[in-house]
Amino acid sequence: MKWREIVQKEPSRVVRTLRLMPGRSTKEGDTQADIYPALEVVKEVSMEGRNGTESETWISLVDAGLADALCKNVQEMVTFLNALPGMPRELLEKTKRESDQVYSIFYEPSDLTVQIIARHWKYSLTPDDTKMTAAMLNMFLQPDHPRHVAYVRSNGLDSSVSLLLSKILIGVGPTPTASKQKQAKALMAAFADHFVRLSGRAASAELDFLACIIGAAKHEQAEPEIAKAVLKSTPFWNAMFRLLKKSAKPSAEVHGHPVDPEVEKKHRFYVMSNIVGTTTNIIHDATFENPRECEPLFRIWANENLFGALDEVMEQLVGINGMTSAYASLLSRNAPEPVSVQIGRLTGVLDNVLKQGTPALRQLLRTQFPRWRTLSALIRHDMQRQFQAGPPQPFAPGKIPPPDSNIWDHGAWQCFCALQWSCIDLRTACGKRGCDKAATTIVCQCQVVRYCSEACQIKDSKEHNLVCGHMPLVETVNAQNKMGSALKSSPTEKEMKPATDVAGPDGLEDLD
Ligand SMILES: [Zn+2]
Ligand SMILES: [Zn+2]
Repeated sequence: MKWREIVQKEPSRVVRTLRLMPGRSTKEGDTQADIYPALEVVKEVSMEGRNGTESETWISLVDAGLADALCKNVQEMVTFLNALPGMPRELLEKTKRESDQVYSIFYEPSDLTVQIIARHWKYSLTPDDTKMTAAMLNMFLQPDHPRHVAYVRSNGLDSSVSLLLSKILIGVGPTPTASKQKQAKALMAAFADHFVRLSGRAASAELDFLACIIGAAKHEQAEPEIAKAVLKSTPFWNAMFRLLKKSAKPSAEVHGHPVDPEVEKKHRFYVMSNIVGTTTNIIHDATFENPRECEPLFRIWANENLFGALDEVMEQLVGINGMTSAYASLLSRNAPEPVSVQIGRLTGVLDNVLKQGTPALRQLLRTQFPRWRTLSALIRHDMQRQFQAGPPQPFAPGKIPPPDSNIWDHGAWQCFCALQWSCIDLRTACGKRGCDKAATTIVCQCQVVRYCSEACQIKDSKEHNLVCGHMPLVETVNAQNKMGSALKSSPTEKEMKPATDVAGPDGLEDLD
């Protein structure tokens, strides 16, 4: 076959052919009629790869601009699919007749569309490219999405999301025959790679895809390797927390283009609240499903600077209404969850993990606290809400307060304090973060925080002064909480399986 040879020898010709407009031809004489045969060969190449290495042909195609060229085709397909529901029959027939090459990639019964899109999502170089391929994969994974329905119906395929998940994994994996574990690892590596360079709207789309793929895997109980890879991927979490930090800073342009400040802010806030929401959901679910992975995950988070990132963004974060990602809706958490609820849940779960954790975990966390900036932002937010709405209504037994109740704002800093106090005992330890010395008689004017030396007190003053005036209040609440938890252990602690009761050298596998 002609194109099989061309794809080996002239990758740029393949790309130019895929980009042809109607009535045009390449200098070699290829026309639009060549798009389909060329695509077929591209599909084959995308599935190649031997001995665990990337296919060289594929790489040369990607280098020649394949991702962009395929995106152009995909874009046309999206337009068709958009027009599908309620589209007049004649128009549909006409579209089919005139564009069958492009159309067929979507409607071939044995089609590899999802693998191909997944593959060039992985290799996408421009933010637009990443955004669009992520959005496409995202829509395939949502069973109610009209495009998912159209795709499945026209392919005569099993409608299961799990089938599509496995196609995505094959698409991003090192080879089609690589183990699921390697494929899932490659998926997380691709997310990490993208998060590092994306911001704004492209980052939002990428986060939606992430939430969707995790949600879909969970919902369908398919591809358990994805959930495991999420818990283990250090580069992924590093990139997530870097993106979180980056999103706290306003920017006059995104990816080199000037943007409307309001739009830019909207996307940054969306990114921030979704990172915190997704992070919270992941550890929350892991406590039930993979309790043994919680401590290793917590370690990764501490090492990759979760608390440093939260310190930088909390001021802005607390005012955001919350996440409405695909993950949330797949899990029927349809109502946007205020960030205060997320922070309360996140720190509450982490506190439980810490309490059941090893001394090594406590040792690691000891270096991460105190975080006065975070605490100050949470307390000031609570005060502001109380100033507007009055003191929060007390909990009624058996009734969960609505998401907009300011009890959540009031609870968030208390949960954060509980975690902080579990990490560092400020009665005996120096109050300067990163100092591992014991406190001496040097007491701050709040009478709560002590230091090892004047040098530490001076170094800490800028951050601690943000919250110094509130420390007596913090101390009162803290003492009450201590009494409360001494009287009865919380139900969540009892529900959680202890992390130590499963034996085996490589624990994760024997849990399923
Ligand atoms: Zn010190
Ligand atoms: Zn003080």
